[in-house]
Amino acid sequence: MSFQQEVNKRRTFAIISHPDAGKTTITEKVLLYGNALQKAGTVKGKKSGQHAKSDWMDMEKERGISITTSVMQFPYKECLVNLLDTPGHEDFSEDTYRTLTAVDSCLMVIDAAKGVEARTIKLMEVTRLRDTPIITFMNKMDRDTRDAIDLLDEVEDILNIKCAPITWPIGMGKEFKGVYHLLRDETFLYKSGQGHTIQEVRAIKGIDNPELDKAIGIYAQELRDMLELVRGASHEFNHDEFIAGELTPVFFGTAMGNFGVDHMLDGLNAWAPKPQGRNTSERQVESSEEKFSGFVFKIQANMDPKHRDRIAFCRIVSGKYEKGMKMFQSRIAKEVRISDALTFLAGDRELLEEAYAGDIIGLHNHGSIQIGDTFTSGENYRFAGIPNFAPELFKRIRLRDPLKQKQLLKGLIQLSEEGAVQVFRPLQNNDLIVGAVGVLQFDVVVARLKGEYNVDALYEHVNVSTARWVECKDERKLEEFRNKAEVNLALDGGDNLTYIAPTMVNLNLAQERYPDIQFLKTREH
Ligand code: GDP
Repeated sequence: MSFQQEVNKRRTFAIISHPDAGKTTITEKVLLYGNALQKAGTVKGKKSGQHAKSDWMDMEKERGISITTSVMQFPYKECLVNLLDTPGHEDFSEDTYRTLTAVDSCLMVIDAAKGVEARTIKLMEVTRLRDTPIITFMNKMDRDTRDAIDLLDEVEDILNIKCAPITWPIGMGKEFKGVYHLLRDETFLYKSGQGHTIQEVRAIKGIDNPELDKAIGIYAQELRDMLELVRGASHEFNHDEFIAGELTPVFFGTAMGNFGVDHMLDGLNAWAPKPQGRNTSERQVESSEEKFSGFVFKIQANMDPKHRDRIAFCRIVSGKYEKGMKMFQSRIAKEVRISDALTFLAGDRELLEEAYAGDIIGLHNHGSIQIGDTFTSGENYRFAGIPNFAPELFKRIRLRDPLKQKQLLKGLIQLSEEGAVQVFRPLQNNDLIVGAVGVLQFDVVVARLKGEYNVDALYEHVNVSTARWVECKDERKLEEFRNKAEVNLALDGGDNLTYIAPTMVNLNLAQERYPDIQFLKTREH
């Protein structure tokens, strides 16, 4: 297979959904199709009491939530799929946002009984920043759901994206009969209780086929009448609009019953974009370029408790990774030789020989890699757009054993480079302030400081309620600001100047008083 063919067959996507909509279940089924798992049911395995391979911290296990982001690669028909998992808990949304910069399309899973929910709205906003193409799966049709037309209307109204139904559901709940495929003119009949296997689904060709009436009785005529309405009232699938993020193909089914998932995968195979280029500080880099480039969107510790290491997840933007190759790390302007990158086959790690644009590789990180880092084949540029978000929660962190100040600082800086948390050091005192987007991050930090740095730390209240990175083109004005506002200034983990405000009122006043200073809510790495 040629280089271009290798790249073109790749599909790199993530699932966006509200908790409980069925992301884990659909991931299991998708892996089942990829033959990555013999029998679905080991990703989270709530029922069997087994824990997912991607669950790495005891804390996660105790709380039954999935915090980490992991990567799964599997073949499906002509394509090779990379599925990037995202943390289910909203306290780790920063990780999710950054993961969404590393995909080329998204699968939106909606609980058809509930419709569009809060977290889906938020995640859709993030995908809009890059106009990422969205495929939609209406899940849980084996339950009493909302009316299908209502669901499409809601997606169009709330998420502001056109819906093109590709399949249409017949009945729901106990009476769920299957779906009709509008493009293939075929009806697929659902049998319950087959969720753990790839079922032999009965298909009936042609909407007017009398077989259909025999199979589903009165539902057949109802379907025919309904389809006229649907065809008149909804959008037809249009590939250009899909690629532009303006229209989403919609599939109906049940992840638990493993029904309809393959229709969605066929859509991904046929329509989802091949690996896309990315913009850099110098120029646009295309996936078809044969020279290697990539960026780090995520750093994760202790993927495997036995290994106790930290892995930097790097999305390859162009070219090909080969074992032992040299890469240029732009931020530190250094050449590094990488001989032990990892790939992630269904959650297992395997040593990797080669990987192509669109793939994610795991680089062992011994402290020299940060989120947002760019690797190239020697060219000096940096990929743009990997965001940091100003934290909304703050605590002072203090040691139980004051002799370990150095380890504490080292640990906090490393954890902030991973994006696990943010750390601020005020200019005027020796406090260490931890900033987080979600409350659980605080617990993770204390647990990891203890486990990895042997540091026993605790939190205290601190009078900070919001933070902004500050920048100013005029050096003199910045210096003046630095002197006058020193009480409220701090350095973050990467030594960037930050304004930490006790109240929003204080922040607003500062913004009024110093109009030449920029107060930034997000910062690109
Ligand atoms: P996540 O939080 O989005 O990962 O959701 P899960 O995949 O863990 O699913 C949440 C709950 O919904 C679990 O109890 C699943 O068994 C259930 N569930 C998922 N898909 C379906 C479905 O198609 N039908 C029904 N009835 N339940 C489902």
